[in-house]
Amino acid sequence: MTPVRYLKGVGPGRSALLESLGLTTALDVLHHYPRRYEDRQNLCPIRNLKEGDQATICGQITSVTRARTRGGKPIVRARVADESGTLDLIWFGRSYLYRNLRKEPELYLFGGVRRDGRLQMINPEVEQIGSDESIHTNRIVPIYPVTAGISQRVMRKILWCALERHGNQTVEFLPSDLRRERRLADLREAIAQIHFPDTDRDREEARRRLAFDEFFLLEAGLAVRRGRRRRSKKRRFPVTAEIDRRIRRRFPFQLTEGQEDAVRDIVADLAGPFSTYRLIQGDVGSGKTVVALYFLLAVIAHKGQGALMAPTEALADQHYHTVSQILSGSRVRILRLAGGQGAKKRKEDLQKLEGGSVDLVVGTHAVIQGDVRFRRLEALVIDEQHKFGVLQRAALKEKGDEPEVLVMTATPIPRTLSLTLYGDLDLTLIRGMPPGRKPVTTRWVRRAQRAESYRFLKAEMKAGRQVFVVYPLIEESKDLQIRSAVKMYEELSGEVFAGFTVGLLHGRLGREEREKALKGFREGVIQLLVSTIVIEVGIDIPNASVMVVEHAERFGLAQLHQLRGRIGRGPHKSACLLFGDPKTPQGKERLAVMETAPDGFQIAEEDLRIRGAGEFFGTRQSGMPPLRLADPIRDLPLLEEARRDAFRIVELDPRLQREEHLPLRRALIHRLGERLSLADVG
Ligand code: ADP
Ligand code: MG
Repeated sequence: MTPVRYLKGVGPGRSALLESLGLTTALDVLHHYPRRYEDRQNLCPIRNLKEGDQATICGQITSVTRARTRGGKPIVRARVADESGTLDLIWFGRSYLYRNLRKEPELYLFGGVRRDGRLQMINPEVEQIGSDESIHTNRIVPIYPVTAGISQRVMRKILWCALERHGNQTVEFLPSDLRRERRLADLREAIAQIHFPDTDRDREEARRRLAFDEFFLLEAGLAVRRGRRRRSKKRRFPVTAEIDRRIRRRFPFQLTEGQEDAVRDIVADLAGPFSTYRLIQGDVGSGKTVVALYFLLAVIAHKGQGALMAPTEALADQHYHTVSQILSGSRVRILRLAGGQGAKKRKEDLQKLEGGSVDLVVGTHAVIQGDVRFRRLEALVIDEQHKFGVLQRAALKEKGDEPEVLVMTATPIPRTLSLTLYGDLDLTLIRGMPPGRKPVTTRWVRRAQRAESYRFLKAEMKAGRQVFVVYPLIEESKDLQIRSAVKMYEELSGEVFAGFTVGLLHGRLGREEREKALKGFREGVIQLLVSTIVIEVGIDIPNASVMVVEHAERFGLAQLHQLRGRIGRGPHKSACLLFGDPKTPQGKERLAVMETAPDGFQIAEEDLRIRGAGEFFGTRQSGMPPLRLADPIRDLPLLEEARRDAFRIVELDPRLQREEHLPLRRALIHRLGERLSLADVG
């Protein structure tokens, strides 16, 4: 592959600059797509020029002079004429033009038209007709991402030459029948047209093809990865009628239809030939916990070990509490592995795990890290996945085990994300809610309406209900002027809600205090719980009917929906009050969305739309290859097509060894190999 320094127009200096843009080979350069385009194609007769136009003209130089500014900068002045009239031209700092224009007076010019007595153009782009091709004017002109030291003109010229000399280094990797079926342009043609399009339509065709490629390679990578994982299962876990009965006997309720669907998928995974790697999506409160427990117990019934991981210690506590209750009196041995428990206790716990005298461990991600060893970890549940990065998934792999994995997210993932970021997981959606769930009314409360809200809270508490008040931060921040939870706690408990029991919960409390606060609230001793974001996920207290969120504008929509999901779990009518005075229209739009959109999926889509894809994609951490042309939101149909095609091909030919797939395999390794750790596709 040709290094950039051997490209025409690139010396050592420019090659260093190109490398700083991440371009090291000719092929990289060919895939350095324009950021946008300027339409410089319609030639305008000089007579028709108006002040303020951006125009391309074609004419002949009739006179040219040079001079210097007072600062000593060279100035070239010229006059150009076509059949309709004449125009003045001025360039600063480009003295070489003086000679060029005299030698080759026929040219295209592109620039802004202004008037200083006569009409003129200052520093117009020039292209001499004598030179063989039109690059900078008289066409749709590409504008590139560049860096100091490389101008648009230089970059354009480099691309032009690279296309001419190295364009044939791009190898078509899409099977031809696929290309025909999807009506996709030929790769070389697409690369040529994305840089120097003949028409807008050609450019759009090129973009479609190259965007498809980005999705297609990503999805093919995910498909290969998934396929590889699917070869690795050592042991199956058939769920017999007896096992099923024993598990269900533990549940205090009938599963909902949505839960039954999920259980069916899980049972099929466990009994099937491939390891489970499934994402369970369900709105907040849809009842994911028992589904997870079913999965864990099914594996434990086969004498495997299971782990249930939550994103925070508080949520791990809650899970431990729930699980212990459901399993009380059973033979399942449960361990709560928490941070900060003392060296001696920890050592004992770890020994139990390794020795196999524990069946189920509950904790945070620390459970699969560092010195923790299992005798036989065979089932893993990662709850509330949005809190876990892709990193933890990677850490899992390093453990060396290949457990059955269930990932559960309470924040419904927009379709675009589940097709890309989580694209190698199987998906299950829990539809519907357990019976008796009351819809939550959401209101956005402005400053002036606070007193009224407080009266409402008191009335609720007098009626026996409980209230959450959530703050985004725990300490006073001078910059942000956020009233801290601590301070508010004092204010609320001492003044506003004197006579009610008010509790405080935040991440910096010691473990014991935290547990005490949660316990008090769970048991109804505490009527109003002032809390930071630690309660964001998973806390389940049916008697709580009001959720107040302070500085609601500082939370993400998904987070707000999470918070709202903490209430409406009991038989009572519930309300979520979003306190906030956002300044921006966007901020107002976001709170308004919360008032009207009831369902997490809608909110997730809105959130993604308002915040833009950039936040999710293109970030290094996400482990995603960069999408340069493709936009997963705007191009969703294309993404879906590419995914279908890629998965179909990999299904037929998992190692991409067929003759017709070799170019695809090479492209995959070349473009995504490192990122998706696909170096060993074969
Ligand atoms: P999430 O999906 O948000 O994790 P949980 O698993 O915490 O939801 O369940 C929310 C509440 O619904 C819990 O109180 C749980 O006991 C209850 N629940 C779950 N499934 C059912 C069911 N099938 N019938 C009645 N209540 C249920
Ligand atoms: Mg949950």
